[in-house]
Amino acid sequence: MSSRSGSSAPTRFSGIRLGSIAGFEISLDYSWFIIFFLILATFIGAVFPASAPGLERMEYLAMGLVGTFLFFASLLVHELAHSFMARWKGVDVEGITLFIFGGMARTSREPDTPGDEFLIAGVGPVASFVLAILFYGVAVVGGYFGLGLAVTVVAEYLGFLNLVLAIFNLFPGFPLDGGRLLRATIWRITGSLRRATKIAATAGRALGWGIIGLGVFSLLVGGGLIGGLWLVFIGWFLTYAARMSYQQVLLHQMLSPLTARQAMSPDPERVPPDLPLENLVHDYFLRRPYNSFPVTEDDVVVGLVTLSQVKLLPRERWRDRIVADIMSPLSETVIVDPETTMMSVLERMREGETRRVLVATEWELLGIISATDITRWLDRVGLIE
Ligand SMILES: [Zn+2]
Repeated sequence: MSSRSGSSAPTRFSGIRLGSIAGFEISLDYSWFIIFFLILATFIGAVFPASAPGLERMEYLAMGLVGTFLFFASLLVHELAHSFMARWKGVDVEGITLFIFGGMARTSREPDTPGDEFLIAGVGPVASFVLAILFYGVAVVGGYFGLGLAVTVVAEYLGFLNLVLAIFNLFPGFPLDGGRLLRATIWRITGSLRRATKIAATAGRALGWGIIGLGVFSLLVGGGLIGGLWLVFIGWFLTYAARMSYQQVLLHQMLSPLTARQAMSPDPERVPPDLPLENLVHDYFLRRPYNSFPVTEDDVVVGLVTLSQVKLLPRERWRDRIVADIMSPLSETVIVDPETTMMSVLERMREGETRRVLVATEWELLGIISATDITRWLDRVGLIE
């Protein structure tokens, strides 16, 4: 499977950086190793011995390694095709990640027009079709010129896999490429990206459930444990990705016109760094509905203190400790300019793994934004189900 996702994708990738191709950073998610060894083992143990019987063990090993490498190279070509088209259409690509379900080109935002979306989504399956033709071509020509069975069998199988990849990605469920083509079409007809995404994502969830059903059926009738489980996983991932992608689009639409100044709780109460923790608890946390307070000294922000930081310390030590002992220092506090868009604020929250952001100009603390504020606000506008 391969799909694309916005920068604030649901999945946060942790993995290995491989390098970059034409400025696109390529990385491997740790989950990729599972699929790598699964495919390698299937190639060496089942696929190639069945389609090219009678070869040496070492030959199957070599075929497996080359085949697996070329398979992932094919996935990369598919994602690179998306990436080049996206760049051409002015959509930044942050990088390409190979993970357990395939590849993913992480784009910074949605395309500007349905036409751009159509091209960016469509070029991936086209690339896979072209690869399929090339590999089948090598198999046919190689057979004709008497190249070894090892070469033609690997080429033929890669042709088949690229064909499957192209066809599977054309299924009309968002966020698969086919789902994006569907979305672009509905977007063009209705003029509403939001409605188009909703319909395409619903199709994505339906497709996901269909695949899960197929997997369960295959498990029940004994059509192979790994294959059945695999379908269930892919289906589950698709329903999840469809739902998250839709929420992402909604979130983006709602947050993009909003600035930090508009979303913040203004003029937050502040505490001095030399305040004893006992006073902090009794005079602030117990009396106010807030879980964090900016720490200021002579009106200058020096840090942020949160309830969870206080809770880390046993109660009997609250008397002899002060705020400065436990607060997050300025270097670990996320501070944004009041005109920052809320999309970037969310981004900063995710990067800094913090739930609070201070809003300040160079000389004045203006407000505070907490994750709870955002959640409550999104809840009100009906985004969270
Ligand atoms: Zn694709």
